[in-house]
Amino acid sequence: MRVARTVAEVRDAVRAARAEGRTVGVVPTMGWFHEGHLSLMRRARETTGFVIVTLFVNPTQFNDPADLVAYPRDEQRDARMAEAEGVDLLFAPSPEEVYPAGFASEVRVSGVTEPLEGESRGPAHFRGVATVVLKLLNIAQADVAFFGQKDAQQALVIRRMTRDLDVPTRIEVCPTVREPDGLAMSSRNVRLSTDDRGRALALKRGLDAAAVLVRAGERDATRVERAGADAMRTLGVEPEYLAVVSADTLAPFAGTPLEGEVLIAVAARVGPVRLIDNVLLEAER
Ligand code: AMP
Repeated sequence: MRVARTVAEVRDAVRAARAEGRTVGVVPTMGWFHEGHLSLMRRARETTGFVIVTLFVNPTQFNDPADLVAYPRDEQRDARMAEAEGVDLLFAPSPEEVYPAGFASEVRVSGVTEPLEGESRGPAHFRGVATVVLKLLNIAQADVAFFGQKDAQQALVIRRMTRDLDVPTRIEVCPTVREPDGLAMSSRNVRLSTDDRGRALALKRGLDAAAVLVRAGERDATRVERAGADAMRTLGVEPEYLAVVSADTLAPFAGTPLEGEVLIAVAARVGPVRLIDNVLLEAER
């Protein structure tokens, strides 16, 4: 596995891979790899001939400076894990390589960026995400880019952006990987104390309680949301939001019965860490 620091090195490597007739896959990440990241790398390895993993803790998407400072980083550990998955190229640029002096452009996606994480973290978050992901897709010139369902809204934003801006990379969204007890894997989980690690299960509990109701035929979003939030409170966790929305548009059901693909999304602070999770399900009429 090679490690590239510059855009020019990535472009050279991609040119060489293409000259050999290989297809190119890219997995954008912020590092501190866990099984969720590795599942994306394996999927990329299975389906494309040259796998690029990008490792960049993107400062512009952090609305909370303390979260950026505390974000776990260990490039050597990550490099070993990526190499073991058969990754061909790890692109680990400096902030100056990504945002050189004079950088002045931004990608703004409206609509799907606005509720949920957009409301909680503010509009700069998804502007930061969309801008860096467009840059990474342009740098990698990949056939396919792999993202996790864990960040459901992010995946929707990226799909919207690539469609709107005619980005020739196909977006593939892969299932959420969980710990044996159900906690969604996240790089931020290492910052949970033992007590908080127990309470962090509240997110999955809330989603499960909400999903059980929908599967049992409940079609009133407010009642489903209340049941989910109540289940979280039994573990002493107050949701920032637990929302039942249309999976395609993230629109709330606002008094109309649940129907079609439904996303139940949750965010909560557990100790010093803000966690998110979600579940997708079908609500038949
Ligand atoms: P991050 O490094 O947290 O920015 O995540 C990089 C990619 O891995 C994103 O596409 C995430 O959605 C995905 N990802 C993070 N956690 C998980 C997980 N538990 N299961 C599947 N994919 C994940």
